[in-house]
Amino acid sequence: MVSVGREIAGKLKELVDRDLSFMHICGTHEAAISRAGLRRVLPQQMKIVMGPGCPVCITPQGEIDAALELAGRGFAIATYGDLLRVPGSRGSLESSGGDVHVVQGVHRAVEIAKQTDKEVVFISVGFETTAPTVAATILSEPPENFSILSCHRLVPPAMKWLLEQGEANLQGFLLPGHVCTVAGYKEYEQFPVPQVVAGFEPEDILLGLLMLVEQVRKGEARVENAYPRAVTREGNVRAQQLMYEVFEPTDVEWRGFPVIPRSGLKLRKKFEEYDAQKKFDIGFRPVTKHTACLCDRVLRGLVSPTDCRLFGTACTPRTPVGPCMVSHEGACRIWFTYRSREE
Ligand code: SF4
Repeated sequence: MVSVGREIAGKLKELVDRDLSFMHICGTHEAAISRAGLRRVLPQQMKIVMGPGCPVCITPQGEIDAALELAGRGFAIATYGDLLRVPGSRGSLESSGGDVHVVQGVHRAVEIAKQTDKEVVFISVGFETTAPTVAATILSEPPENFSILSCHRLVPPAMKWLLEQGEANLQGFLLPGHVCTVAGYKEYEQFPVPQVVAGFEPEDILLGLLMLVEQVRKGEARVENAYPRAVTREGNVRAQQLMYEVFEPTDVEWRGFPVIPRSGLKLRKKFEEYDAQKKFDIGFRPVTKHTACLCDRVLRGLVSPTDCRLFGTACTPRTPVGPCMVSHEGACRIWFTYRSREE
């Protein structure tokens, strides 16, 4: 950590005079915090917990099962590598024996569709960061044998749910820098709690935490931007327009959460020829959890990965039991990787 980081860490130690718990909603924030071992330099009374910030982790089992059903029907499935090993009710896409392609992005899935007569379904996960690119692809009129299974999510409705429940007793949020680059932070102004948009260097995160602490001490509750080199209040308006031209909000379940109103994105009727759910009459069925995996509670900031008795024993990146150990943005995978720095 460079000296400015040490200076901020020192200031935090001076200022924190009560128990404080802040949540971030971003796998990249968790990776940056754990890689730099930031929790070790924070005041003892300050806790940073993870929220539902990993798009792969919050994809519920019912959506993985729908992807497996599509693979079972003999369609080519294209998706990001992280989704491949996420367990559904009957195995994962990796173990399905289906025609599954790992792609870097939706454009590659379209290229595959252009080279085959087979139906190609892109399993489209991600927050406001990835949905605009998928929208632009749909507007470019991809081939008829291409469709998407939309598993997209929007961050503010999940935050609203967390605040309404109040189960994690949070004093503030570090807002996700990447999501806010696209979506801006205007929408977060509705929440009566301290919030700071933060970047991804250790110093960015420490600065964001310092700004949160200062708000708490002053009794304020507003959105501040500690990442102005990338984020504006309005965000990328063109990207937002593209996203809402193609998608509309819908009520969806998140892993670890019930159905959250208007927290997902589905293709508008005009584009339903590219909607795998409509095209192949596939539904998302709720699945009851039967394992000891605590991903649901990790994603709500209620427990840490090491509170799970399977962590590092039955559950490792080689033998993942839950999605939080599969994805590179998953808290359990990140803690496993940087465990010594967390300790
Ligand atoms: S360690 Fe594994 S089983 Fe436990 S919560 Fe994390 S992913 Fe689930």
